[in-house]
Amino acid sequence: MNVISAILLNEHPVKGCIQDGNGKTKPFPIFAIDGLPLNIWISKNTSFKDANSSVPAHGWLYDFENSVPLSNAWKLLKPETSEYGAVSTVIPILICSDDLDLVCNVIMIEQMVTESEVQWIRFGVAWNNMHDLVTSVVWEQPFSSPVLTFKLNDFEEAYNNLKSLDKAWNEGI
Ligand SMILES: [Zn+2]
Repeated sequence: MNVISAILLNEHPVKGCIQDGNGKTKPFPIFAIDGLPLNIWISKNTSFKDANSSVPAHGWLYDFENSVPLSNAWKLLKPETSEYGAVSTVIPILICSDDLDLVCNVIMIEQMVTESEVQWIRFGVAWNNMHDLVTSVVWEQPFSSPVLTFKLNDFEEAYNNLKSLDKAWNEGI
């Protein structure tokens, strides 16, 4: 069982990501897996070594015409259970810090939700998108990355914490 939490990231390979307009440090919210920030965890444990310079899709994904991609990312991540079995959803989790869109270097996960657990069973990159949703993914080959397993309650708590940290961060606190 892995531990997921929401933290504020103080250090990032792209300095501009943790600074405000005046160059002052402004740590941003991100998930941590077993205490390791998600960008670092993915760059260490998957074949996506460049992911350490990425930022979370949740909070950063933005379309300057409208905010649909951002709200989609939050909706997809929210664990939904079904009485008919495990629910599988593909979700953008990290994005390129230069582009902040669904096109350039989008790290995707497949999330599987049961009545007691949330699992991230594989990692990939977005290959295509339609109407602000990623429709095709190139999955990591071979599937060598560890499967992450979280307690559903812990995941829901981390999700809610990340969301409130993001809200505060966007309001400039
Ligand atoms: Zn890019």
